[in-house]
Amino acid sequence: MSVSEKIKQLKQNIPNNVTLVAVSKTKPNELILEAYQSGHKIFGENKVQELTAKHEALPKDIEWHLIGHLQSNKVKYIAPFVALIHSVDSFKLLQEINKQARKNNRVINCLLQIYIAKEETKFGLSENETLEILNSPDFLILNNINIIGIMGMASNTDNVDIVRNEFKSLKVFFEKLKSQFPINNNLNLSQISMGMSGDYKIAIEEGSTIIRVGSSLFGDR
Ligand SMILES: *Cc1c(COP(=O)(O)O)cnc(C)c1O
Repeated sequence: MSVSEKIKQLKQNIPNNVTLVAVSKTKPNELILEAYQSGHKIFGENKVQELTAKHEALPKDIEWHLIGHLQSNKVKYIAPFVALIHSVDSFKLLQEINKQARKNNRVINCLLQIYIAKEETKFGLSENETLEILNSPDFLILNNINIIGIMGMASNTDNVDIVRNEFKSLKVFFEKLKSQFPINNNLNLSQISMGMSGDYKIAIEEGSTIIRVGSSLFGDR
């Protein structure tokens, strides 16, 4: 099956309110263009350099999402065009995104990446760190970012109970945040980005609104 057919089939099998980010990291522009030409416009990359190069080479109405760890000193390269940053994992990074967004006369949509997996290697904020950021007076003055939700990655395990429980805990935390932090000028919590090739079905069952799917569309990396 072609990439376009796989995307079409996946979209038919997920609810309408769930957004598919086609994760194209390491994949060539021709393959992305093929998917684009069949009508899919939302792609995710995890490295700034690759994202920037692909943005330059490919049609300008592609909605590019950064899904991987972001270093503050690289924000400036993506600030002119990035549609959504899934991986905000510190207040310092958020301040830098705000600064670069302002320079570009933009408001950049962001998700706070929350640590849900047991593994040590995963980036992300703890629940307490998240609350600290959102409660901070310094957060209120960031006018060029918009926090539209949270992102999480489940443990890389075949144990579906562990994965389901991690997604459940992210959803519980999301609901808590929504009740505690009403919509304001830079916060409008409506999205949960969770679920990848191996676990997007469970993620959707547990309330995901954005899935990030790579290998099952584009093939193994
Ligand atoms: C690579 C990646 C994905 C997609 O993973 P697949 O297993 O290929 O679907 C999703 N999210 C993040 C953060 C990634 O780095």
